[in-house]
Amino acid sequence: MTSMKSYSGRVQAKATPQSRPVAGKAEVQNDAGGFGFALDKWARLHRFLVLGAEGGTFYVGEQKLVEANAKAVVECLKEDGSRTVLEILDVSVSGRAPKNEPAIFALALATVYGDAATKATAYRAIPRVCRIGTHLFHFCQAVQDLRGWSRGLRGGVGAFYADRDEADLAYQLVKYRQRDGWTHKDVIKLAHPKTKDPVKNALIRWALGKTKEGDDSDQHVKRGPIIAAFEEVQRLGVELAGGTTTATQAQRIVREICELTGKWRLPWEALPTQVLASAQTWETLAPTMPLGALLRNLGRMSSLGLTVSNLSETTKILAGRLTDREAIRKARLHPLSILQAAKVYGQGHGDKGSLTWTAAGAIKDALEGAFYLSFDSIESTGKAWLLGIDVSGSMTSNHLAGMNVTAAEGAAVMSMITARKEAVHEIYGFDHGFVDLGVTAKDTLAEAIRKTNKNNGGGTDCALPMIFALENKLKVDAFVVYTDNETWAGKVHPFQALQAYRKALNPGAKLIVVGMTATGFTIADPSDAGMLDVVGFDPATPAAMADFVRG
Ligand code: CA
Repeated sequence: MTSMKSYSGRVQAKATPQSRPVAGKAEVQNDAGGFGFALDKWARLHRFLVLGAEGGTFYVGEQKLVEANAKAVVECLKEDGSRTVLEILDVSVSGRAPKNEPAIFALALATVYGDAATKATAYRAIPRVCRIGTHLFHFCQAVQDLRGWSRGLRGGVGAFYADRDEADLAYQLVKYRQRDGWTHKDVIKLAHPKTKDPVKNALIRWALGKTKEGDDSDQHVKRGPIIAAFEEVQRLGVELAGGTTTATQAQRIVREICELTGKWRLPWEALPTQVLASAQTWETLAPTMPLGALLRNLGRMSSLGLTVSNLSETTKILAGRLTDREAIRKARLHPLSILQAAKVYGQGHGDKGSLTWTAAGAIKDALEGAFYLSFDSIESTGKAWLLGIDVSGSMTSNHLAGMNVTAAEGAAVMSMITARKEAVHEIYGFDHGFVDLGVTAKDTLAEAIRKTNKNNGGGTDCALPMIFALENKLKVDAFVVYTDNETWAGKVHPFQALQAYRKALNPGAKLIVVGMTATGFTIADPSDAGMLDVVGFDPATPAAMADFVRG
C-alpha cells in the first residue's frame, strides 16, 4: 500500500524545513541558503549604523556587504531623507555604535542621494557626527569619493572649525594632526571655514602653516596657550632627540614637557615620541586624558611599571576613571571597545609589537565594571528568560565591527547583561544541537567567553531554543536568540516553533532576535507583535529588551 500524503501535509504550514520558504509568508533566502524574513529597511539601517560591514560576514565579503548596506541606506534616504539623517545623528551622537564610520559613510551618502532638503539637513549634521579630526578626515574622504564640493558642503565641514570654542579648536589641531592621508590643512583648503573670531582665524592660519609671513607677536598671542605649549614641547623634543644632552639635562627636559602637558592638558599625540617611553609622561596624562585614549593605552602604562600594585597611585586613578558611569557615558565609551580593551589587557601583551605587561587586578575588575556601566541601566522584569546563543561556525568566525571579538563571544557577554538582572533565566548555546553552556551570571566576561568558545562550530538551527522548551515543558516568557540569522539546518522555521510552543505551553511567550551582523535577514516574523528584532551591541538593547518583555 502506497502511503497517501495529504496536500496540506506536503505544504506543511506548521512545520516547514528551513531550506524552503513557508507558504503565505514573504520570506527571502539568507546567505547560508535557508529561508527567513527580510529585515525592514529602517531596522537594517540601524543594524548597519551600529555594527557596520567591516570584515564582511562568514558568507559574504566586506565589499558585497558594504554595497548591500549602502543600497539600504539609499532606500531609506529616498523614502524619508530627514528621518534617515535623524537616525544617523541619533546613533552617532548618543554613542550607540562601536565605530562612527558607518554613520559618517551614511551621512556622506545623504549629501549625495538626498533631496535638497535632506542635503541641507545633512550639511548641518556634519559637525555633530564628525566631532573629532579623524571623523572629519574620514567624512571628507567619503565625499571626495562620492561627489564634488558645493557651498552647502563647505559650510557644513567649515562649521567643524568655526562653531567650536577656541580652546577645543586648538586641541583638535594639535591632537589630530594627520590621519589616513588627511591633515587639517587639506580640509581647510577645501572647506574655507568662515569665522569673525580673531582667535579662531589665527588658529586656522596656523593650521594652514601660515606662521612665517605676517606672524607678529600679536598672532602668537591670539593663537593662545595650547598652541604655544605644543610648539614648546615639540622644540624640547628636538633638543632631546639631538643626542647631545646629558642624563640630567634629559631629565629636566622630560620634566618640563610633563609640566606643560599637565598644565595645558595636551593630548599624548601632541608629545614628542621620545617622551612616550617615559613613565613620568603617562603618570601626568593618566588623570585627565580622554577615556578612549586611556582604554587604548592601559597596556602601555602597565608595561612602564605604573600599575605594579592595586595600591599604586596610577592604578587607583585608572580604576577610578573606568568606574565613573557619568564619565563613561559622556565619553561615549562603547561596550565593545571596553570588551576589546579588556581582552587585550587581560592577555598581558599587545596584538602587535613587543609590549608586554602584568595585568593589574584592580584594572581588570574596573574594565569588567565599565562594560556593564556602558549599557543603559535596566530593571528586572521578573519574567522567565531562555537565552539562546548561536555558536555555529559562522558566529565563531564573524568579527564584530572589525574588532577582535567574535559574534559568538559578543553574544555571550550580551546574554550576561540580561542574566545578571533576571533571577529566572537559563543560558544555552546552539548550532545544530543544543547545549547548556554552563555560563552563570556570576561568571566574569572572560569566563563566559571561554565557556562559550568551548562549544562551537556546526550547522545552524535557530528554532532549537523553542523546540527544547517545548520538549521539556519549560515555562518561558521570553526567548532571546543571539544570532546572525543565517539559519538553514532545522526541520521547522523558528516562528513555527514559537507558534507551537505558545499553543502548548504559554500563549504570551515572546521572541527577541538579537542581530549580530549587518545583514538584511531576521528570523522574527514582522507581522507578529510578540517578536522583536534588536541590534547586538547597541548599549540601548538590553533596556529595550526588558521593556518589550515587560510590556
Ligand atoms: Ca551559522
